[in-house]
Amino acid sequence: MKRVLILGGTGDASELAAKASTLPVEVRVSLAGRTREPHNVSENTRIGGFGGVAGLTTYLCEQEIDLLIDATHPFATQISFNAAAAAAELGLPRLMLVRPAWQQIPQDWWQEVENVEAAADALTEHAKRVFLTVGRQQLGSFAHLDVWFLMRLIDPPEENATVPKGLLLYNRGPFDLTSERQLLTQYEIDTIVSKNSGGSATYAKIIAARELGIKVVMVKRPSVPIGEQVEDAESAISWLASKI
Ligand code: NAP
Repeated sequence: MKRVLILGGTGDASELAAKASTLPVEVRVSLAGRTREPHNVSENTRIGGFGGVAGLTTYLCEQEIDLLIDATHPFATQISFNAAAAAAELGLPRLMLVRPAWQQIPQDWWQEVENVEAAADALTEHAKRVFLTVGRQQLGSFAHLDVWFLMRLIDPPEENATVPKGLLLYNRGPFDLTSERQLLTQYEIDTIVSKNSGGSATYAKIIAARELGIKVVMVKRPSVPIGEQVEDAESAISWLASKI
């Protein structure tokens, strides 16, 4: 039986792993270990970095992996480029599951920026009370600003991390429209900073911002490696089925 490694850390990866387990293929899932209590961890899940391209290549060889599916978050580019390099070196078939980016519609008020640092720069003019949803690792980029932040995270920041002034809120998606609308109103938010993650789990805040006329500073997607791509778990399953 062939063996597939799914690089995860997303809801799409969990859905894919669950669906793949119904196929005649041995499924392994890899998580970076960023979340303290990850969901959907099974005996087939390994946790932690591989040690760059060399470490990943060694893992793929030692574990006799036949197929690689990169279902990591669209902003997790280091692991995606490492996966591309390791798969190329070994001649392994590799697929990327990349959910489509959110698209701005005429009722939205977005300012699109290239990266998180540019998002911080974009706040200097008018923002006073900002809903920051970029994850705990990049909070430090906003700490120098004279702005109040509502920061939603899955886990607390590291002990020595620089945290902007404001309120830390711990919660894990999916989030619904009613509660997002309520949150924005309750904390009198005037601006949201979001990565263009795509998908439905965190989209309600974008709809709520649209309804309430709140500005969204939207961090654009970084580039991903060249290679075969699908947009959802269903299509990744079709790819997998065609390879086994
Ligand atoms: P990254 O910058 O692309 O990766 C940094 C390093 O973390 C990689 O070089 C690798 O370490 C390790 N790594 C990342 N994903 C891994 C995986 N699935 N399995 C094993 N090692 C992994 O990634 P990141 O932005 O820190 O994100 C870490 C994880 O969180 C990703 O798996 C991603 O799917 C998930 N995530 C990220 C975001 C985001 O906004 N970036 C949001 C939600 C979820 P080695 O070089 O030692 O192998």
